[in-house]
Amino acid sequence: MEQKLVAVTVNKAGFEYDIHSLVKAFYPECDVKVSVEGQDVFYSSSEDYPDLSISFQEDKILLTLVGVKESGSESSFGGKKVEILPDMERSEVKNRLKQLIYVTLSEHTGRLLPWGTLTGIRPTKIPMTLLEQGKDEKEILSYMKETYLVSEEKGLLSIDIAKRERELLSTLHYRDGYSLYIGIPFCPTTCLYCSFTSYPIVSWKKRIDDYLTALEKEIDFTAEIYKDKILDTVYIGGGTPTTLEAEELDRLLGKLKNTLDFSEVKEFTVEAGRADSITEEKLAVLMKWGVTRISVNPQTMKQETLDLIGRRHTVEQVKEAFHLARNMGFSNINMDLILGLPGEKEEDVARTIEAVEALMPDSLTVHSLAIKRASKLNRWIEENGITALHNTDETMKIAAKGAADMDMVPYYLYRQKNMSGNFENVGYAKEGKFGIYNILIMEEKQTILALGAGSITKRVFPDGRIERCDNVKDVGLYIEKIDEMIERKQKLFED
Ligand code: SF4
Repeated sequence: MEQKLVAVTVNKAGFEYDIHSLVKAFYPECDVKVSVEGQDVFYSSSEDYPDLSISFQEDKILLTLVGVKESGSESSFGGKKVEILPDMERSEVKNRLKQLIYVTLSEHTGRLLPWGTLTGIRPTKIPMTLLEQGKDEKEILSYMKETYLVSEEKGLLSIDIAKRERELLSTLHYRDGYSLYIGIPFCPTTCLYCSFTSYPIVSWKKRIDDYLTALEKEIDFTAEIYKDKILDTVYIGGGTPTTLEAEELDRLLGKLKNTLDFSEVKEFTVEAGRADSITEEKLAVLMKWGVTRISVNPQTMKQETLDLIGRRHTVEQVKEAFHLARNMGFSNINMDLILGLPGEKEEDVARTIEAVEALMPDSLTVHSLAIKRASKLNRWIEENGITALHNTDETMKIAAKGAADMDMVPYYLYRQKNMSGNFENVGYAKEGKFGIYNILIMEEKQTILALGAGSITKRVFPDGRIERCDNVKDVGLYIEKIDEMIERKQKLFED
């Protein structure tokens, strides 16, 4: 099925990305093309969709919806405008432009976006900055509502989370500390919606030793370069780290604990995401090396959906893995859920939440399905002619209520591009069980050294500047070029 198109023309370059992301939020099912007059090829919108024309003039921006084709007849909307001043800062012009687009499209489609004009991935950064400037809650809320047209509910949620994050982060060593990420890019099978660096473990079984050897070189490098820094949190993710055999996990965790100073580590997480990768032996290894937090992720408790999305494990296996971990003494277990999965309605989400509540995890991370271009899900949707996946305010509320019933509060939040229903991902946790690393990765306030194929190291400088260094995604290349990658990291950490 051919994807519908919404075309936008603009007479000035520089705001294409902002225009694209906001128009896309109103028309998630469409491809959006933004063309600059005199530079790009022009497009025309598909039938039943308007052509948008944006014109920057001396003292205003004008937006016109042209030629709205409704059942064959041509109609046209008048223009809307917003004032701008010649000496206005770019950010202010951008805000006004986005308000103009939002108001026009909201009127035309009859839709309100819960996050208003905010299309970025970290809406909590705004209240966080304002809190740091000494603003109070009321001032922040009205600023978010007026400037970004955010709903009262989302405004309050982001302020609530920013306050909690601030408190949690105050216990970390920003300047003298760092966090460590290790990527294990293997999974039992590839999920339909996956766009992470992940390869089926069967194809790499024979190279795991080499992969661990490469990781060990990176661990030695970390110990050397950061011998004077304090290690605050450690996160082993992927992929699914527990696809490694128990002996392999033992080798990796042993090397870590024997090489780095863990005396100040506040959180040591290993994602045991897929129930089909968890065994008693492997959990015993995690326990032996002092892992404090694990994640057992069902995504949904509906078997039909699990089969459809290629998880290849059963609901029963999730429950068994969870009970096993609990009985072995894990006292901080997270569960990940995805809302908006193909075929799932409110009642499915309610049933999933009910099943999760019976297990009583310590934290719950609720994702809204994001359809990434590289995922098999994207192809599946196209092949099956699905135009919209079902995620609603109602399902988000069911999950939020379930978390509240389990005495959890929201503690981190982020958004992704192309998210079902334009909602957000929210981490809920019981008091004292917050995932600190999750906050760190979002707020970008501390250096995160990342090891393994496809991982991205971010160095945060004292002035807040951030520089990155990416490891190659291809496992074979990662193993082969490990010295080169360490050299690149070395450069990043030269003062
Ligand atoms: S478990 Fe996660 S990383 Fe692995 S295939 Fe599924 S979505 Fe991708």
